[in-house]
Amino acid sequence: LKKLRLFFALWPPRATAEALHAWAAALQRRAGGRATRAEAIHLTLAFLGDVPEEKVPRALAAARQVRAGACELAIEEARFWPHHRIVWVGPSETPAPLAALARDLRTELEREGFAIERRVFAAHVTLLRKARASRTLPVLPALAWPAREFVLVRSTFAAEGSRYQTMERFRLDLNQAAQAP
Ligand code: ATP
Ligand code: MG
Repeated sequence: LKKLRLFFALWPPRATAEALHAWAAALQRRAGGRATRAEAIHLTLAFLGDVPEEKVPRALAAARQVRAGACELAIEEARFWPHHRIVWVGPSETPAPLAALARDLRTELEREGFAIERRVFAAHVTLLRKARASRTLPVLPALAWPAREFVLVRSTFAAEGSRYQTMERFRLDLNQAAQAP
């Protein structure tokens, strides 16, 4: 029985991914570890784990039910987590539309029979793994990350780290703010 390792995520524009990777590569030179490749940089919304192939349509159906608004993801903070030895970046506070997207997506996935972890959603982007302690992190460049769609991604193992393949894209609503009462 074929299973696919799947997750939903936001993917940055190419230039933003390149800038984030350059930042992580500079840090890696003194903190060690492994910097996420530019094309692999993402923000996970919901992790499905190994899904039997015949259940993939249910994941697509769940995502199509989501009516969340587009937003701008501000990359304002960089943190080192000593216990996981990772460096991640993200907004100081999760934007409300993004929190709503993660919540609605998880709700729809549960309706379709997926068991999604109920950990509080924290918007973070892992840029360096297996890093040594670093007292200070480099200043982040100004970055634009407009979140106008989310994607269903398949993860496969490869020598250079997990490889990701976009299976489907789902548009976020650009007019939602204007429509709100
Ligand atoms: P690697 O495992 O090769 O270091 P990775 O963790 O990015 O790379 P995956 O393990 O396939 O690749 O995970 C895909 C995404 O889902 C990542 O953003 C990862 O942080 C997240 N993820 C993985 N496992 C879980 C889990 N049990 N709960 C929540 N999120 C998870
Ligand atoms: Mg992993």
